[in-house]
Amino acid sequence: MALTVYNTLSRSKEAFVPGNPERVTMYVCGPTVYSFPHIGNARPAVVFDVLARLLRRRFRLVYARNITDVDDKINAAAIAASCGIGDIAARYTDAYHQDMAALGVLPPDVEPTATAHIGDMLTMIGTLIGAGHAYAAEGHVLFRVKSFPGYGQLSRRGQRELLAGARVEVAPYKEDAGDFVLWKPSTPEQPGWDSPWGRGRPGWHIECSAMAARHLGETIDIHGGGNDLIFPHHENELAQSSCAHQGATFSRYWMHNGFLNVDHTKMSKSLGNVLLVRELLEQAPGEAVRLALLAAHYRQPLDWSGELLAQARRNLDRLYGTLRDVAGWEDDWPQAEPDATFMAALEDDLNTPRALAALFDLARDANRSEDAAARCQLAARLRASGEVLGLLGAHPEAWFTGAGATALSNADVERLLAARREARARRDFAAADRIRGELAAAGISIEDGPDGTRWRRSG
Ligand code: AMP
Ligand code: ZN
Repeated sequence: MALTVYNTLSRSKEAFVPGNPERVTMYVCGPTVYSFPHIGNARPAVVFDVLARLLRRRFRLVYARNITDVDDKINAAAIAASCGIGDIAARYTDAYHQDMAALGVLPPDVEPTATAHIGDMLTMIGTLIGAGHAYAAEGHVLFRVKSFPGYGQLSRRGQRELLAGARVEVAPYKEDAGDFVLWKPSTPEQPGWDSPWGRGRPGWHIECSAMAARHLGETIDIHGGGNDLIFPHHENELAQSSCAHQGATFSRYWMHNGFLNVDHTKMSKSLGNVLLVRELLEQAPGEAVRLALLAAHYRQPLDWSGELLAQARRNLDRLYGTLRDVAGWEDDWPQAEPDATFMAALEDDLNTPRALAALFDLARDANRSEDAAARCQLAARLRASGEVLGLLGAHPEAWFTGAGATALSNADVERLLAARREARARRDFAAADRIRGELAAAGISIEDGPDGTRWRRSG
C-alpha cells in the first residue's frame, strides 16, 4: 500500500513520494512558549507524532519541530512576572516537554529555538534584500509581496482577501499594505539583536523559514501545523523561502490539522474554557487523552468534551482487557506485524477513525476466538498495531491499576534511551537530561549502572 496524504497546496490527496527516501524531512511549527499548552496545542503534536511513527516504518526521517522563544506574548509574560524572556521560555518549554511526553509524543529529532538562529535569519533577510524581494524602511525590513507572483497559492486568497485576512497594518513606511515584516526595531526594554538595520527582532514567519533551511535544507518533504497557520504564517514562509532559494520548492507537501473546540465552542481565555493538558492529565491517563485526540480524522474539527475523554478511557479498557486476557504477556509474546486493514486506513491520509475501528475488530475477534494460539496471535497483532499509533504500550495490569500506565512501548523507550546515549556521547548533557525528564513524565524511570542503563515502568 502506498502512503497518501492530503496536500493543502493542491487541495487533493496525493501519493507520498519523498525527494530522498534516505532522508525524509518534516518541519512542524511548534509552540510559542509563554504559557502552559492547552489541549488544542496538543492536537498537532499528537497528529504529527503519529505521522512521524508511520514514516519511520518506511523511511529515514528527520523531524524538526521548533520552539518560538521570542514573541511579544513572551515579552508581556516576562514583564508580568518581572523576569527575563529566557526564564519564561525555559519554564514553558519544560512544561511543553513534560505534557507532550505524558501524551506519548516522542521528541522530534531536532528542536531548534528561534533565538539560537538569529544569524541565519539575518543572512536570509540580506539575501532577500539583495534579490529585490525585501526592502529596509525606518528600522524595519519588509517582504515585497508584489515581487513574488506565486503569493497566495497556498491559502488561495485573492489580493483583497489577503489584506483583510492578514489584518496588516497600513504603515507609512510600507510600499504596499500587504508587505509583511521580516525584521522590526526594538525599544531598549524589548529584546533585540544588532543587525545591519539597527537593533531589533525578527518577525515570526522568517524564524521558521530560517530554521527549516538550516536543519532540513532548501526543499523539505512535509510542512505541518494547525490550519490557522495556513494564512498568513505558511503563505509567508513559502514566499520567503522560495525567494531566498532561487525559486526552489519550499515544501513538497503541506499538511494541516483541523481545530479543536470545547463543547462546540472555540477555546478562548475570555470565555474561560481553555483546557490545559496538565488539567486533563489529572482527570485521565495521558494515553486516554491521546486516544481522544485521534478519535476524529486529523483534518476534521474535533469537538472536545468530558464524554469524549470518558469514551476514550472505556475504549482503552476494552483493548487492554483483550491484552490482559491473553496469557504470556511480554515473556513469550509472539512477534506480530500490524494488521493490514488497520495499516491501510492509516496510510490513507492518516484515517485514524477507520484505523481505530480496525483495532476494535481485532479485539472482538480475539475475544471470540476459542483457540488459545489464534487468540494470542490476534492480541499480538492488536498490540503491534496500537504501537504505530503510540497506544497500548503499557502493561495491561498497569493500565487497570493505574500504576505506571504509559503509552510508550518498549521500542519507544529503547529509541529514547538510544537518543540519550547519543546526546551524552556528544556531551550535550542538557539534551540527555531533557530525555530523562521526558521519560519520567511518561512514567519510565531509568538508572545508569556499569552495564548500561536499566529502565522500568514506575508506579
Ligand atoms: P501556538 O503556540 O499558538 O503558536 O500554536 C502551536 C500549534 O498549535 C500550532 O500548530 C497551532 O495551529 C496549533 N493550535 C493552536 N490552537 C489549536 C486548536 N484549538 N486546535 C488545533 N490546533 C491548535
Ligand atoms: Zn512556523
